[in-house]
Amino acid sequence: MIDLRSDTVTKPCAHMRELMAAADVGDDIYGGDPTVIKLQDMAAEMLGKEAALFAPSGTQTNLIALLCHCQRGDEYVVGQQAHTYKYEGGGAAVLGSIQPQPIEFETDGRLDLDKVRKAIKPYNQHFAKTRLLCLENTLSGVVLPLDYIQEAGEFCKEHDLLFHLDGARLFNAVVKTGVSVCDLVSPFDSVSICLSKGLGAPVGSLLVGSQEMIDRAVHWRKMLGGGMRQAGVLAAAGIYALEHNIDRLQQDHDLARVLAQGLSMIEGFSVDEAEVQTNMVFVDVPKGHSKKIISFMEEHGIQIDGFERMRLVTHLDISSDDIDKVIAAFKEYSML
Ligand SMILES: *Cc1c(COP(=O)(O)O)cnc(C)c1O
Repeated sequence: MIDLRSDTVTKPCAHMRELMAAADVGDDIYGGDPTVIKLQDMAAEMLGKEAALFAPSGTQTNLIALLCHCQRGDEYVVGQQAHTYKYEGGGAAVLGSIQPQPIEFETDGRLDLDKVRKAIKPYNQHFAKTRLLCLENTLSGVVLPLDYIQEAGEFCKEHDLLFHLDGARLFNAVVKTGVSVCDLVSPFDSVSICLSKGLGAPVGSLLVGSQEMIDRAVHWRKMLGGGMRQAGVLAAAGIYALEHNIDRLQQDHDLARVLAQGLSMIEGFSVDEAEVQTNMVFVDVPKGHSKKIISFMEEHGIQIDGFERMRLVTHLDISSDDIDKVIAAFKEYSML
């Protein structure tokens, strides 16, 4: 199957599995797993922060960050379509008693800082205390501009807000912009990165920030059930991912562009090629066709997802041949 539903579907390659099998392990709850420690140190150094914490998922690292930064009854400002707000089960509200203040994203993935300013509550008895601003990079494959990130960092300082980045696909932004990862994250108090998306590890995310925050994060991770024992088996996959699978994201971006170009030339399908910055292609399909398209593709060995707007994601298990087959299948569908 050619699976374009997400970059989470990648399977660990043979070399990654060898390293997992050979990993030196210990009980990480006792702080005794050398491979987990190595991964955490590596991530902290790469991002130019003091410390990092390995956790089972990005949902958990985002939640831990919010729990570290906000108290019960505090509020965080976030995008309406942001993963932390929309796709993480409402965890901040349910488990943290943290109120979200969602704001519509601009089409380029920014939160307009004037809109954020208006959403910040004055500090008095009527309001939740606005404590934090959360951004996402990349957002639906779109990269946040560096000058905006810096401006938003200044804004947070001015307004006494903490600043968190959901960087599930941060390295796609690094590869796309050529800006160093340290520069892309320097204004943030905390950053969550996923190893299990385009980087190709089977499991795992990292929360990166100050030593003081990460010390508190360990407590929250345990409380959320994210403490893992001989987790070095998984951390070894993460180390392999950070060492081998960052630069190659360029191939995913190139294939996404080829896919977008190919699909945009087919009658009935519409793709905004300018929107395709990294590894995601959004295709508008004719009204009422999505179910038929999905099952047609399935018969042709292709898995895709979506409704009137379909999201096709390239990743390390997708080849140039696969992309040709996908374009051909869409062409065939359009001629039915
Ligand atoms: C995948 C993802 C996460 C974390 O998801 P998990 O499946 O819990 O690891 C967070 N934010 C964004 C933008 C994501 O795409």
